[in-house]
Amino acid sequence: SLSIGIVGLPNVGKSTLFNALTKTGNALAANYPFATIDPNVGVVGVPDARLAKLAEIFSSAKIVPAKVEFVDIAGLVRGASEGQGRGNQFLANIRETDAICQVIRVFRDPDVSHVDGEVSPERDIETINTELILADLQTLEKALPRLTKEAKANKDRKATLEAVEAAAKVLDSGTTLYAGAQAAGIDLADLRELHLLTAKPFLYVFNLDADELVDTDLRERLSALVAPAEAVFLDAKIESELVELDDEEALELLQSVGQEESGLSQLARIGFDTLGLQTYLTAGPKEARAWTIRKGATAPEAAGVIHTDFQRGFIKAEVVSFDDLVAAGSMAAARAAGKVRLEGKDYVMQDGDVVEFRFNV
Ligand code: GDP
Repeated sequence: SLSIGIVGLPNVGKSTLFNALTKTGNALAANYPFATIDPNVGVVGVPDARLAKLAEIFSSAKIVPAKVEFVDIAGLVRGASEGQGRGNQFLANIRETDAICQVIRVFRDPDVSHVDGEVSPERDIETINTELILADLQTLEKALPRLTKEAKANKDRKATLEAVEAAAKVLDSGTTLYAGAQAAGIDLADLRELHLLTAKPFLYVFNLDADELVDTDLRERLSALVAPAEAVFLDAKIESELVELDDEEALELLQSVGQEESGLSQLARIGFDTLGLQTYLTAGPKEARAWTIRKGATAPEAAGVIHTDFQRGFIKAEVVSFDDLVAAGSMAAARAAGKVRLEGKDYVMQDGDVVEFRFNV
């Protein structure tokens, strides 16, 4: 499955956040019998209010949300790209993830030291990005002689060579490929074989003091630092308290700091989106469930997520949109109202589709 690597400088609240992630994840893992509980992996349910509604309509015994995997990647320090600290291990671990989540310290606490002496989100973002950019430049330099040779022998390789040359320019200017490739006319698909770090989707967690959570000016300033990447604002200390509370107490604590949703929920939702994923829904007496597919997946591909036999023997998908189903009140009523469609193998799944597959075994 797809995973998001969590990185950040020391003492920014990564462990605090990650421990909270694994706490919610261990509860969720019970629904995923094959999910091993790796100490470096936190599994978080993607909050989806539609599931509770489906469970009500179908009298489902349980709710199974989609999940996102976060991987704790330790060892980011200045000079990691030159092998400082455990730099090489760090780079190898981060290469395996599908997106990069940077945790940035904003909270001020004289008892928690900062590696560079003072709290500065802007400088920390630059420090991290510089290490990732330097690592990518090394990868490109290493590949360049081989690609030049290949492009001479085979014109199909020219696109990759040109993309690499253009990418080196973007990186040299201090910009990540995620932020700068499009404007430079680079198709990231041409670079895929190089597994570049800064070509992965980025998202940011700003770890704020509790009283800063409602500071909209601050949020806007921080968001602007990382655009087009998405930003989540939370207080890691509060998140670590929230996971110890029951629902009612948690809501009270959230409201006391002016929030409606926990930072972890926001992170799961935005992380899911950053990975280019969407869900479709199934429901019955056993469970109401969200299944994870890539945006643009077809009906047979979606069926394959439940079972490969469903994809192989796919005949039709019976599809109703969540809103139509809720308006009708039951599957039978939605059918009677003509809201349930039979879709074939070319159908592209839409967010909020409630589906039943018909297949041969
Ligand atoms: P890591 O090195 O990035 O994993 O950072 P830790 O999660 O170990 O946190 C370092 C220290 O900062 C610990 O003493 C935490 O309790 C503290 N800390 C983490 N998040 C916050 C926060 O949001 N506010 C404050 N005041 N302290 C925090």
